Amino acid sequence: MPSSSLFSLAGKRALVTGSSRGLGLAMATALAQAGAAVILNARDATALGQAAADLAATGATVNAVAFDVTSIESVQEAVAYCEAELGPIDILINNAGIQIRGPLDDFPLDGFEAMLATHVTATFAVSKTVAKHMIARRQGKIINICSILTNVARPNVAPYGAAKAAIANLTRGMAADWARHGLNINAIAPGYFMTELNEALIADPQFNRWVETRTPMGRWGEVAELGPPAVFLASDAASFINGHILYVDGAFSATV
Ligand code: NDP
Repeated sequence: MPSSSLFSLAGKRALVTGSSRGLGLAMATALAQAGAAVILNARDATALGQAAADLAATGATVNAVAFDVTSIESVQEAVAYCEAELGPIDILINNAGIQIRGPLDDFPLDGFEAMLATHVTATFAVSKTVAKHMIARRQGKIINICSILTNVARPNVAPYGAAKAAIANLTRGMAADWARHGLNINAIAPGYFMTELNEALIADPQFNRWVETRTPMGRWGEVAELGPPAVFLASDAASFINGHILYVDGAFSATV
């Protein structure tokens, strides 16, 4: 096989959760550019439809399925619809995410639970539902989204870091259980990227300066820079990579 075709996703279908904007849309766009048919997802059906129309206008094969990843009934219904009506899901990226910032001593319990539900429980529930089909076919790629806060902490974001740390070990656990069935399960841990999730940080000049000095590459990541790593992990080029967490962070996590 020529080495370039190892990176091709032609003939594959990918479901990317939380892909109406930000990193999810950037990864879905890159997968489409590598030849995959993509299924976009988010809760807001209007924004999702617009993102799907814009991506389809570039020549990509795109479907949009609005559902809330924290609702197990909706997840089961959506995955059943995709598999039956659109075709097999070969690639799943569990990207949907939220951020709630605040001092831990005042952090509301329902906020903490929402963090775990959106990041951890949903990653488990969507993966389990899709993996049943992948296991039956003895192939599939699952990519979970961690963070540089998987391993280290910062004030005001402890619940987010706890959720991302859980996703990291869930990724390893999925590989432990499912690699033998032909699945590759890995995670990407992005550094600081300019998306809506970080609006408050981007608007804060002091935080901006901190990101630029703390990140050895001296800048925020650009959303398009997360696409190629996702293509790599979704492709045959990564056939023996399993249970791995790939940091895409301009050397942030490599340094103190
Ligand atoms: P954005 O806020 O820009 O986008 C989040 C996406 O997830 C939107 O499409 C949103 O659409 C969707 N979403 C949120 N909740 C749900 C839900 N319950 N069900 C379905 N879709 C949902 O965030 P980013 O692109 O910045 O973040 C994407 C992922 O990357 C997250 O997991 C985040 O934690 C992670 N990450 C981001 C970093 C960054 O610097 N930006 C750094 C490290 C990790 P809608 O609201 O319509 O549902």
